[in-house]
Amino acid sequence: MSTLASYKEHLQEIGKLESALALLQWDQRTYLPRKGHPVRSEVIGKLSKMAFELSIADELGEYLDKLEGQEGLTEIERASVRVVGKAYRRSKAIPPEFYERFAIAASQAESAWEEAKDKSDFSIFQPHLEKMVDFARRFAEYYGYEESPYDALIEEYEPGMTSRELRSVIEPLRRELVPFIKRLTEDGTRPSNEFMRGTFPEAMQRELSLLVLESVGYDFDAGRLDPTVHPFTISTGPADVRVTTRFLPNDILSGLFSSMHEGGHALYDQGIAPELRWSGLDEGASYGIHESQSRLWENLIGRSRPFWKYFQPVIAGVVPQLATVSVEDLYRAANIVSPSLIRVEADEVTYNLHIMLRFELEEGLINGKTKVEDLPELWRDAMGRYLGVTPEDDAHGVLQDVHWSSGLFGYFPSYMLGNLYGAQIFATLRDDMPDLDSKTAHGDFDDLLAWLHDKVHRFGKMYEPKQLVERITGKQPDSSYFVSYIKDKYTDIYDL
Ligand code: ZN
Repeated sequence: MSTLASYKEHLQEIGKLESALALLQWDQRTYLPRKGHPVRSEVIGKLSKMAFELSIADELGEYLDKLEGQEGLTEIERASVRVVGKAYRRSKAIPPEFYERFAIAASQAESAWEEAKDKSDFSIFQPHLEKMVDFARRFAEYYGYEESPYDALIEEYEPGMTSRELRSVIEPLRRELVPFIKRLTEDGTRPSNEFMRGTFPEAMQRELSLLVLESVGYDFDAGRLDPTVHPFTISTGPADVRVTTRFLPNDILSGLFSSMHEGGHALYDQGIAPELRWSGLDEGASYGIHESQSRLWENLIGRSRPFWKYFQPVIAGVVPQLATVSVEDLYRAANIVSPSLIRVEADEVTYNLHIMLRFELEEGLINGKTKVEDLPELWRDAMGRYLGVTPEDDAHGVLQDVHWSSGLFGYFPSYMLGNLYGAQIFATLRDDMPDLDSKTAHGDFDDLLAWLHDKVHRFGKMYEPKQLVERITGKQPDSSYFVSYIKDKYTDIYDL
């Protein structure tokens, strides 16, 4: 067998194991009976180990060595060798016994974090977090970096991004957003959402989510929708991309937008070109690009006036109490800005500030400039400066996110980049599709989805995020698109 054929077969083996793992995880987070969890964890652990061993196997290294210099590869094959080779070298850089110690410490840190959050007592988590920061710094040394150890960590989620570049994106964003939010809350007229008060049965909410997913072009023959606690989208391959959502009895918009958000992720995965299957390229370009697709559907479409022109009669038909509410009132109620303590509940205007704060703190931790013991105080201080609100306890402050306890440093910026990429991609989309608003107002999303397939989805991981954004928009990632979008939209909604 040729090296190329052996290489492809090897990737297929990994891909098939990962497909099985995805299904087991989906089940674990949706329908698995309570008593089934311990055994399921063991099975997942076993399969994960098998997949990981294949991904660092010496023969894979030999195939990569040969293929990296080989002529006559297709563009997809070259991209595959580049992406798989990079991941291979990163995994190989970590000594297995170090990784095992990290995995044990992380699982202890997660339990400590849960307890600390329940009791709102940072001191329970502090020694564990110190260990996790230490591990993260050693990971960075193993991976290697040019300028900042943080760069080695962010590479995992946003290939090619550096902390220097992040700062250059964040600076103008902060300068614009902080005073704008102050103006909104002090001088603006907050829309009413009184008419949204009530209790909404799950069946009713599910019907709405199914209607919206169907209308945006989510393929139910290649996916499904199920309820869960923390919504996620999972792909066992291009022909099976599953969406989950969470319905809150007292908040009908929460479940609807959660479904649109996850639907955006799913449309991306469903749109990856079939030729990329099992090539190491059959996933999103990065966490940030993936998030750009979910935010695009959730916010740029779902929270737009044209969308509510289309959706008002739909929601009126399903939810009797909203039957007589106008398009304008629904649109405004879907766009209330309230600076709050909790990231996952933040609106699209204040969301990025939650991320800036986390980026600053975690970058300081990794560079050794910030001490873990000072985090609660630094957190309160930054919340006050950015959002004008201060948590009364650490459960609503520094302890609210699980990420650091599992050793995920460098992950948070992807959420913000998703908002920024989304706005930038949407600006190009608008130029290319002058009738976007009227199509949206008629619930016709075919051209929009086709555009996204053509420009974003089909390429999977063939391009690095910056390259992809430049290919689509002709420009480097730039936060000014997001700023203009936010200012235009909310100056109108809040009558500034
Ligand atoms: Zn998401």
